[in-house]
Amino acid sequence: MTNPLYDMLFAPLGHADRPLLHLADGRQIGAADFAALVSRLGNGLRAAGVLPGDRVAVQVAKSPEALALYGATVGVGAVFLPLNTAYTAAEVDYFVGNAKPRLFVCDPKAAAALTPICAAHGADILCLAADGSGSLADLAEGQEAAFEPTARRGQDLAAILYTSGTTGRSKGAMLSHDNLMSNAQVLARLWQFTDRDVLLHALPIYHTHGLFVASNVSLLTGGQMIFLPGFDADQVLSLLPRATAMMGVPTFYTRLLDDPRLTRDLTGHMRLFISGSAPLLSETHLAFEARTGQRILERYGMTETNMTLSNPYDGPRKAGTVGLPLPGVEVRIMAQGAEVTDGDIGVIEVRGPNVFQGYWQMPDKTAEDLRPDGWFITGDLACRDADGYVTIVGRAKDLIITGGFNVYPKEVEDLLDIQPGVLESAVIGLPHPDFGEAVFAVLARQKDAEPDLDALRLAVTQSLAKFKHPKGYAVLDSLPRNAMGKVQKAELRKTFADRFRA
Ligand code: AMP
Repeated sequence: MTNPLYDMLFAPLGHADRPLLHLADGRQIGAADFAALVSRLGNGLRAAGVLPGDRVAVQVAKSPEALALYGATVGVGAVFLPLNTAYTAAEVDYFVGNAKPRLFVCDPKAAAALTPICAAHGADILCLAADGSGSLADLAEGQEAAFEPTARRGQDLAAILYTSGTTGRSKGAMLSHDNLMSNAQVLARLWQFTDRDVLLHALPIYHTHGLFVASNVSLLTGGQMIFLPGFDADQVLSLLPRATAMMGVPTFYTRLLDDPRLTRDLTGHMRLFISGSAPLLSETHLAFEARTGQRILERYGMTETNMTLSNPYDGPRKAGTVGLPLPGVEVRIMAQGAEVTDGDIGVIEVRGPNVFQGYWQMPDKTAEDLRPDGWFITGDLACRDADGYVTIVGRAKDLIITGGFNVYPKEVEDLLDIQPGVLESAVIGLPHPDFGEAVFAVLARQKDAEPDLDALRLAVTQSLAKFKHPKGYAVLDSLPRNAMGKVQKAELRKTFADRFRA
């Protein structure tokens, strides 16, 4: 192998006579045409002066060209660095200053604001619009379709993905060819993807879920993708009959459940629904099964580790759990320097070929989270049942310590979520003069309903020890979430920070 990831995912497309991408507007892109696009972009990157090891930062709308740019960057031995399209120019300044890319590819509309930022950090700028046009496309068009990938080793970097970073600055997770290849291979086998699969792909491709879990697995197994710019319930419901599998974040599933067109008939042909990136409520899992007969397969992972735990394909998929360690991946749950016993809560640690190479130019942060013997400290709290299934109970930094007692938000949220009028809840710790932190509950109301706070307080009193009772409640129309469906607890803590201050 000359370039492990390119050879595995992109090189084979050149010889394939089959459709690869189905787009929302009805267009279809064949595998060989896509491979030619990857090749031309690769030659274009070289013409733009991109050298092996250089970072190519990319902040563009999801499109076939954007996916091809990932292949091209890997092909020339450079490091693909996708950025969330929501980042403002001021935020991009940090990423460009930190990653020092050779080239920054942006939407033509953002070029005016980003050009001085890139110039200040020594990065060239090229444009790629959502429709595939722009200066990068022009450069690629004049290139040959013959392309020779640059030789790389398995441990060389293929990508840097910045973590969403709810506290402090976001960190660049360095991912090697081997990291990405091993995870794609394990997932493809475990979830039984084949060249007969058509994956409904409505996730963003600047994040590990849409870029690596979804795209890599599909490319590896020779499948096709219905490649949508984002999640739109109408579009997804109309295209589901053409798909065999879908990967989504929990909000995809709650939005589908909100629509009466989601039925057993509509989904009967589907082989697999997968959820991850944020907790899927047991309630959602059970409601989806009751409506469609399909048991959503929930899995867990993070940018730094790729995927690490998954419910089985064959075998019980337990609602509310993220399943068992992937083959070849070690998982342990630690508290006070030792593994906890089943049922007790601790921090998940992960070791295996999937675990990243460290944080880009942050040796101290790397040393804090990645032990010398290869165990990565995820910061996620979890417990394991007698069958080995792991349940995530939240982030360690979301643990509330009130008057010296530990409160795991999920335990309180699970109770609040099932109260009448409550759609979902987020339990957070707020500064409190006596208790250090006070438990505070933010509730999202159900459509056309209002939670009855007195009844809710009574339910809490009857079920939970007093120190776990929320000392205050707020009711909102919805909880703040990011594009991956994660509830933004840091934002809630900021909004309600003064609630208990004297
Ligand atoms: P990211 O690096 O953006 O993929 O975020 C990773 C984080 O998302 C993990 O550390 C978990 O806190 C959370 N996460 C991912 N999958 C799940 C899941 N199935 N259930 C609960 N939390 C999850």
